[in-house]
Amino acid sequence: TKSSGQRFHKSHQPGVPLTLADFEAINRCERSLPKKFNFARDVLDQWSPKEKTGERPANPALWWVNGKGDEVKWSFGELGSLSRKAANVLTKPCGLERGDRVAVILPRIPEWWLINVACMRTGLVFMPGTTQLTAKDILYRLRASKAKCIVASDEVIPAVESIVSECPDLKTKLLVSPHSQNGWLSFPELFQTASAEHSCVETGSQEPMAIYFTSGTTGSPKMAQHSQSSLGIGYTLCGRYWLDLKSTDIIWNMSDTGWIKAAIGSMFSSWLQGACVFVHRMAQFDTDTFLDTLTTYPITTLCSAPTVYRMLVQKDLKRYKFKKLRHCLTGGEPLNPEVLEQWKVQTGLELYEGYGQTEVGIICANQKGQEIKPGSMGKGVLPYDVQIIDENGNILPPGKEGEIALRLTSTRPFCFFSEYVDNPEKTAATIRGNFYVTGDRGVMDSDGYFWFVGRADDVIISSGYRIGPFEVESALIEHPAVVESAVVSSPDPVRGEVVKAFVVLSAPFKSSNPEKLTLELQDHVKKSTAPYKYPRKVEFVKELPKTITGKIKRNVLRDHEWGRT
Ligand code: ATP
Ligand code: MG
Repeated sequence: TKSSGQRFHKSHQPGVPLTLADFEAINRCERSLPKKFNFARDVLDQWSPKEKTGERPANPALWWVNGKGDEVKWSFGELGSLSRKAANVLTKPCGLERGDRVAVILPRIPEWWLINVACMRTGLVFMPGTTQLTAKDILYRLRASKAKCIVASDEVIPAVESIVSECPDLKTKLLVSPHSQNGWLSFPELFQTASAEHSCVETGSQEPMAIYFTSGTTGSPKMAQHSQSSLGIGYTLCGRYWLDLKSTDIIWNMSDTGWIKAAIGSMFSSWLQGACVFVHRMAQFDTDTFLDTLTTYPITTLCSAPTVYRMLVQKDLKRYKFKKLRHCLTGGEPLNPEVLEQWKVQTGLELYEGYGQTEVGIICANQKGQEIKPGSMGKGVLPYDVQIIDENGNILPPGKEGEIALRLTSTRPFCFFSEYVDNPEKTAATIRGNFYVTGDRGVMDSDGYFWFVGRADDVIISSGYRIGPFEVESALIEHPAVVESAVVSSPDPVRGEVVKAFVVLSAPFKSSNPEKLTLELQDHVKKSTAPYKYPRKVEFVKELPKTITGKIKRNVLRDHEWGRT
């Protein structure tokens, strides 16, 4: 009965495999979380019999290319047996035990997927990191996490060797390379002789599965710990309604293996829906390779950072005929409406933006079938109740700017990170009253669409006005001279602080007269948005400081303006 206003929850019968419909129901809060859950066993391994019966199309589960003629195609069945072998490498010769933390610093190679799945099977906690990390970054990560093992590729060896003596907890170094290296175990060698028999550990659904480091846009990256279910079940609706995936789809998500977006787009959301994950080894983004890939392979779904789309619309995209592309996504940074518009004009395709965080996953999205309002991040996505709140934790009405927050019920939502590892103060600081606060500012309109204003620290207060950098940047990019820009506060003797824009110019404007162009851009912003927001200072720069993921680091420019280091 529905007595005392409590919701009726279907609970899970042990031993009965969960279906995709069950996962959806859990995300809609119509069903309780199972006690035990393991993504490898309960999701991946469930697809292999369906491959055999034809219930799932003959798409690979993983399709990897490197642009040099090498190709790997694994079915879910193959992914199963290969990852069992990898699991035996991790437990036996590497001597790792359930709960141990493993730093996985690999480029986009098939082994990255194998090792992650092997960690799931053995209950090891994987911590992906990009190969662009410096020795200092790696030291910070290994020490902060007390990692027992590092799995790395050739390019990472020198950095690891230079700091390894300072990491007393590190027991094993595993090298994924055809070469051998003193002091390192060889993954390919051990893999060759490993058995394909392995029985998956019975992990609890709230047991730690992975630690993801935040992007470090505003300081040192934070270690957000996620559970088997937060990652393994929490992305069901995202895969179905935002990425719009079915098992017939092929998704190319371009993010680096080190960030949670790789896990969302190239592992959890996609494999929950039985879709094929396409990977290009591409060490560095290259427009020609990118366009070539979309015209050669039957990729249906594309996900990339806004910075990539900003670069692409500078090209004449109409000349290219993409083979099967039908659905394009972006996230991680705000997408300027002008870029969305250009992409649409040039490719005939919409761009569906999502907004989220390493800590809590996707919060808002433009879901397939929903009307897109250019410049908005779409509506809040289930299971979250997204609200705009003030500094005291009160909900603000539509149209009022405040902090973007998630309403909490009595229990912590299962799709949340469990904590910032070893940092209870920072973890506690994310909670305000009944809300989780994102640290981002925004507005909700009366239709329930959310509009990003800026990171709380990036908002500029000039002559009493609050100015969000994103709106000014979006106005600037409408001008043909502007490829991209970063808008920050700058000191001013009269106004306290004023708006300053750092602008990267497009090729035809590079040799323009800077004073004239400054006036022209200021004029343009005054016409396109409320005039008080126009940048009183403009500086032309070759490039903007960015994180490895391509996010603009406004704090670096701001600190520079204010003489802080
Ligand atoms: P750190 O927390 O270490 O400073 P970070 O916040 O950039 O780094 P992530 O978790 O990778 O680390 O990024 C989440 C943040 O990225 C969000 O809080 C928001 O500021 C920004 N973001 C993500 N998607 C969007 C989007 N669609 N529009 C605007 N901002 C976005
Ligand atoms: Mg953050």
